[in-house]
Amino acid sequence: MSHRPIYLDYHATTPLDKRVLEAMLPYFTQHFGNPASLSHAYGWEAEAAVKQARQILADAIHATPEEIVFTSGATEANNLAIKGVAEAYFSKGRHMITVQTEHSAVLDPCRYLQTLGFEVTFLPVKKDGLIDLAKLEQAFRSDTILVSVMAANNEIGVLQPLAEIGAMCRQHQVLFHTDAAQALGKIPLDVEAMNIDLMSLTAHKIYGPKGIGALYVRRRNPRVQLAPQLHGGGHERGMRSGTLYTPQIVGLAKAVELGLEEQESESQRLLQLREHFWNALSPLGGIYLNGHPTQRLSGNLNISVEGVDGSALLLGLQPVVAVSSGAACSSATVAPSPVLLALGHSESLAYASIRFGIGRFNTTEEIDQVAQHAIATIHSLRQSQATTSNRISNQVK
Ligand SMILES: *Cc1c(COP(=O)(O)O)cnc(C)c1O
Repeated sequence: MSHRPIYLDYHATTPLDKRVLEAMLPYFTQHFGNPASLSHAYGWEAEAAVKQARQILADAIHATPEEIVFTSGATEANNLAIKGVAEAYFSKGRHMITVQTEHSAVLDPCRYLQTLGFEVTFLPVKKDGLIDLAKLEQAFRSDTILVSVMAANNEIGVLQPLAEIGAMCRQHQVLFHTDAAQALGKIPLDVEAMNIDLMSLTAHKIYGPKGIGALYVRRRNPRVQLAPQLHGGGHERGMRSGTLYTPQIVGLAKAVELGLEEQESESQRLLQLREHFWNALSPLGGIYLNGHPTQRLSGNLNISVEGVDGSALLLGLQPVVAVSSGAACSSATVAPSPVLLALGHSESLAYASIRFGIGRFNTTEEIDQVAQHAIATIHSLRQSQATTSNRISNQVK
């Protein structure tokens, strides 16, 4: 295989853990039955696997198996939660609250609902990326039906105060949805303690396969009503039709299981790697950490670099390290990250930002190698930039 850059883009996606692959394999060719075929052993085997996976997922977030709806990922889960609630509750109210720094899979369904006559409040964030709970409190209206705030941000890794938000929503009797795509298996999630009514999950951010996720939908206190967005055979208690993808579901459950087992030790290890990395870079000066310094995912290091051009920096890093600037979905466009702009950054500083996502398979040696290369790249970019501006100012004179 050709020499490829070191992968530090774990927020975009993760490699499949081999233990997950092993758990999945028998369900492709051997136990291939349709979990809805209940008249023979092929169906029973698949159904048993799905049932077990549902239980594992439910246990992981303190829910019950009936509250888990399998989807194709977090994008679909977010769409089902937001549009499903809008459609089921529009006679009660047409106002929703979310946050400017949400993933596009939350923002875009909200914007779509605006075109149908819903009103959406997009809350700003503080300089550290966290929402201001007082602003949330002020945003509630008598016609508010849903609050959607993500658990962990995909760009700057900040962890929103879910328990506090949940308590406020419960007090106002407004449903609380959280996009936990980046949080599952990395931080403790408890739908009871945090008063969460809907939660979006996905496997491929936690070393599971792509194309599978789930939506948690609360069944008691209160029982959440949801209008299905995919109609058909009435799978998943009518909330999401379509033949269940057994191997992917088994993979999701295995990934969650491993994530929980290794949550403490892995998050400690990633934190050490991140601090090691930061300590290597920060002596350069003019390097800023984006997002709250401690209330963040342990594997996230999002930095802004002063005195360099953002795309030149990314280009310089590319041969050695696979990273992205801003969100992966928008990294094809050279625009300042909306999340960083929401933190109050100037356009140029938001533009010269890099998201390092450190994960399960990274080593200290890799971090050292990347740090060395990053330092050299930033040095030389700053030097050439300084030379250019000297030349220009000489010309002006
Ligand atoms: C990756 C991600 C999504 C999209 O999940 P898919 O499973 O790829 O659809 C949604 N929200 C957040 C916060 C994410 O990081």
